[in-house]
Amino acid sequence: MTPAHTPLSSALTPPAILAPATTLFSTRAARMRALASGHALGDWLAWLARLFEAQQNLAEQLPAFTLPIVSAPQMPLLAAHRATLLARAKEILPRLAQSFPSVAMPTGDELDARLAAGLSRAAAQPDTAPAEACDFIIAAALQVVWADAAHQALPGFRQPTAVPAAACPCCGSAPHASLVYAGEGKDGLRYLECSLCATRWNAIRARCTHCDTGEVVQYFGLEGGSEAVRAEACDTCHSYIKTFFPKHDSQIDPQADDLATLALDVLVGEQGYARSTPNLFLGAGEAVPA
Ligand SMILES: [Zn+2]
Ligand SMILES: [Zn+2]
Repeated sequence: MTPAHTPLSSALTPPAILAPATTLFSTRAARMRALASGHALGDWLAWLARLFEAQQNLAEQLPAFTLPIVSAPQMPLLAAHRATLLARAKEILPRLAQSFPSVAMPTGDELDARLAAGLSRAAAQPDTAPAEACDFIIAAALQVVWADAAHQALPGFRQPTAVPAAACPCCGSAPHASLVYAGEGKDGLRYLECSLCATRWNAIRARCTHCDTGEVVQYFGLEGGSEAVRAEACDTCHSYIKTFFPKHDSQIDPQADDLATLALDVLVGEQGYARSTPNLFLGAGEAVPA
């Protein structure tokens, strides 16, 4: 897991930010295929594995693209590029969709609305649009474009001054989950992984990423389940975020493993906590397209 993300600078300890590898989507696809085997939602997870593989293929064949440099040191690196990147996602979407001919893709205003809704979901903003299979393909296109842009932009990374700790310093989106890289208790380093561009950034452990308090944080796990996943729940705002521990499973991928552990969401929900983080492939789409 760890080699998939690399620190931008060895001068900082711990590194503030880890850039996603160019093999991000194939690593994620392989993990999802493994998780799908024998899983109660196996058909759905296997379909998502195909989608992640298609993301990798697309990422390797993207048309040449140079990001214009816009200096805004207080903002996330990609904040000023939203419209440009959105247009690029729309441009490459048909290449991704052709791998899934049974899924009806929207056009015109409806497509624009669903693209915008995908970004809203990544920012954890309330979104009333129902999630259909086309939304997952649209989200996948957005991820390919934003992860590619992160690769271009991150070498110039400076910690933005006006971005909350729970927002991606690269693109401003919300994390889908966090990882504790090594060690136990307070010795492990925690990173949040962006739901959109997959950049990881360092975050204080045992501190709620939603309301930014460190008062009472509880950990929930599934009885008899893997020690590699816990829900970190806050008793101040009653929200939770999933935290993964690669020391117990080195193949962890936060996005894939999140979707394969929805039973934990049910358990924590029954305890009265609400999920604070998005996952762009979480929704009403468990009905698998043919
Ligand atoms: Zn991001
Ligand atoms: Zn909280």
